[in-house]
Amino acid sequence: MTQQIQITKSQNLKEKPEVAGIPFGSYFTDHMFLMDYSAEMGWHDARIVPYAPFEISPSSQVLHYGQSVFEGLKAYNVDGEVILFRPDENFKRLNRSLERMSMPKVDEEFALDALYELLKIEHDWVPDGEGQSLYVRPFVFANEPYLGVRPAKSYRMMIVLSPVAGYYGAQLNPTSIYVEDDYVRAVRGGVGEAKFAGNYASSYAAQQKANDLGYEQVLWLDGVHQEYIEEVGSMNIFFVRDGELITPQLNGSILPGITRKSLITLAEDLGYTVREERIHISDVEKGIKDGSISEVFGAGTAAVVAPVGIMNIHGTDYRVNNNEIGKVTQELYDNLTGIQTKKQEDKHGWVYDV
Ligand code: PMP
Repeated sequence: MTQQIQITKSQNLKEKPEVAGIPFGSYFTDHMFLMDYSAEMGWHDARIVPYAPFEISPSSQVLHYGQSVFEGLKAYNVDGEVILFRPDENFKRLNRSLERMSMPKVDEEFALDALYELLKIEHDWVPDGEGQSLYVRPFVFANEPYLGVRPAKSYRMMIVLSPVAGYYGAQLNPTSIYVEDDYVRAVRGGVGEAKFAGNYASSYAAQQKANDLGYEQVLWLDGVHQEYIEEVGSMNIFFVRDGELITPQLNGSILPGITRKSLITLAEDLGYTVREERIHISDVEKGIKDGSISEVFGAGTAAVVAPVGIMNIHGTDYRVNNNEIGKVTQELYDNLTGIQTKKQEDKHGWVYDV
């Protein structure tokens, strides 16, 4: 696909907000990218236009049957240069999600070029404060006006950008999690490994329950036995057990996180043994009790790592590492953010200059 991108600049630039004070994903830049798909023309009409609402037919299929997938990544400002972290992986995952939802795939290289174009225009929107970044949200949805239940014949892909503050203040903060044994997030053969919009809507009830019980996030167990650990909130999960790093093996219902994949490589570089296993909740309970599990943390683009300080397992609260940030958690956080801010050697070629 060798498409040109039509560019229409906004005549009415917005005032840049104080990023430190804005809630995640609530403020958007001056421009957005879009392109359309039809069965006859494939992906076409790629364009960058002023950020604005647009019209959609009431019978657009996405509103009825939910064909909608998305991605999430961040552009960082490193001494005035804009960089991305492994964006190729996000567009690969976007295509896997599209395929799972019977939607047309995009040309990954073209999508990345489109993002580069957009970021060049919005260069001044990439904040440079500690931990701040420009969150990048590519998404694709079905917009054919048709109520028949079958894959749509027309789609739209868009990219919008939102300046975001650091997940934490100056340092990592331990979170509390509730092991959910009623609701499940995903099942093998389902859509858990796709970044499908409905996965998030269906998680709200469990999130609300955890919040009502006084916990910050949900720990999801597998959907078949409800015994094996899957993910925490919208992050992957890691344990430090006897000095080794353990994470649930990808099984078809876990979202394959790019942070997860990067941390596995990084930990091995640092000399840790990393095991991808099926992890039983009662083994975690035992490990925390006898001290063999010394650290637990979530991993995802938003927070990089999120240490777990309190874990409620079947009604009992356990403190992990005395509700403090563990040594391995901090080391991995420092190393990954070190690469993302170019303070540390990028030996795997993860950092892309825009
Ligand atoms: N699991 C879920 C369900 C997620 O939504 C995310 C965020 N994309 C992750 C894990 C972490 O993925 P990544 O490291 O690519 O952000």
